Amino acid sequence: MKSLWNDDEAQCWIDSANGDPAEVDLALRVYTSRLIGQEADLVLHGGGNTSVKTERAKEDGTLAETIHVKGSGWDLVTIEGPGLPAMWLEPLLTARDVPNMTDEEMVVFLRNEMLDQSGPNPSVEALLHAFLPAKFVDHTHSCAALAIADQPNAAELSQEIFGDELCVIPYVMPGFKLSHAADAIFQEKGEGANGLFLVNHGLFSHGDDARTSYERIIRYTDMCEQYLAEHGAALMPEEDGTKVDDPYAHAPIVSLKEALSSWDFFGEDGPFLDLRVSKANKKYLGTPDLEEVSSRGTATPDHVIRIKPRPMIGEAGFEAEDWAKAVRDYADWYEAYFERNAAKSDETKTMLDLLPRVALIRGLGIVGIGRNAKEAGVAADLAEQNARIIMSAEGIGRFTPLNEADLFELEYWSLEQAKLKKAA
Ligand SMILES: [Zn+2]
Repeated sequence: MKSLWNDDEAQCWIDSANGDPAEVDLALRVYTSRLIGQEADLVLHGGGNTSVKTERAKEDGTLAETIHVKGSGWDLVTIEGPGLPAMWLEPLLTARDVPNMTDEEMVVFLRNEMLDQSGPNPSVEALLHAFLPAKFVDHTHSCAALAIADQPNAAELSQEIFGDELCVIPYVMPGFKLSHAADAIFQEKGEGANGLFLVNHGLFSHGDDARTSYERIIRYTDMCEQYLAEHGAALMPEEDGTKVDDPYAHAPIVSLKEALSSWDFFGEDGPFLDLRVSKANKKYLGTPDLEEVSSRGTATPDHVIRIKPRPMIGEAGFEAEDWAKAVRDYADWYEAYFERNAAKSDETKTMLDLLPRVALIRGLGIVGIGRNAKEAGVAADLAEQNARIIMSAEGIGRFTPLNEADLFELEYWSLEQAKLKKAA
C-alpha cells in the first residue's frame, strides 16, 4: 500500500483555513481522513476513526487544548469539519481516574465536553484518542493487518513484523474498557511506539503532524501486506465490477429471494439481494471446509453489526425448497446463538431478526442481503472483504477471529443498536 499524500492538495486544505491555526489542523485532519477513507482495504462503511488535538479559545479568550474526533454516522471518505466534533481535552483526561463507566455514561460524559452541542456523538474510541499523547491519531481496520491480528499467535507476529514500533493490545471490547486498557498498556510499554496493534480488531498510529500519522498507518498496513506476500498468502486484489447487474438472471437468486420473502422482516419489496462474482470470491467459495471456516466469526468486531456472526451457505443448484430449509436452519442456529449468549449477559437483550445478511453460494458467488439496496451492498462489500482476509489468514496460519461470546457482546451492544437505528 502506498501513501496518497500530495503536497499541492495538502496546501489547498491549508489555504482553506485562512491562517487560523486550529482550522489548519482540522483541515489537514479532514484531508488525511479522506485519504484513509479512499482505500477500502483500510476502512469500509463507517469503520475506523481519526482525531486531532488543537488549541481553541475559551469564553474568557484564553486558549485551551481541544480534541476533534470523528463523529458517529460519518464516513472517513466523505468527512467534513462538522464530522469531527471538538471536545475540551483536559476534562476528558480525568476519565483516566474513573474506574468504570457504562458506554451510555461515556457518551453523556463526552457530549458534556463538546464545544458545539449540535455536533454528532464522538466515536466510542474518543477517550483512547484523547489518552494517546500525540497530536494526530489514526485508526483503521486494514485488511492485511486483520489477517495477522486474527491469528492465535497475533501478539508474537506483531513483534516479528513491527518490533517495538507498535504496542500490542489484547482484545478488549471497544468503548470505555478498551480506552482504559489500551492507555494503561501504552503508558507501561508504549515508550517510543508509533501506534497500537489491536488483536482481533485493527491498528492505531499517531504522530505530531497529519502526514506522519497517516503515513504510519500506510507503513504498518504495507508491512502486513508484505508479510502475507512473503509467506505465500498475499491478499487477493480487490476487483472492480464484481457486482452482477441483473442477479435475477440467475435461478438460485430468484429462489433465494422467494425463500427469504416468506419471512416478514424484509418488507414488501424485499429482500434486496446483491450478487458479487470475482476471482477471489470463486476461490473462497471453493474452500473445502467453507462451512467451518466461514462460521468462525467476522474479521473485525464492527462487521458483526452489518453481516451477523456467520453467513448462510448454499449451492448454485439450490431450488426454492432447498433455500427454504437453509434459511430455517440459519434461523434455528441464530436463535440458539442468541439464547446461549443472552443467558450469560447481565442485562436483558432483545433478539434481532433471525435472518442471514450474507449467502455464500458455491458455484455462483457471494450475496449481500438487506431491506434495501444500500444494506445489501454494504453486506456484500463486507462479505467480499472478509473472504479475502480469511484466505490470507488461513494462508499464514489459522483464521482465529473474536470468539462467539465477544462477538455477541458487540452485536447486542446498546450503542451499536442506537447507531443502526440512526442510519435507518
Ligand atoms: Zn475499530
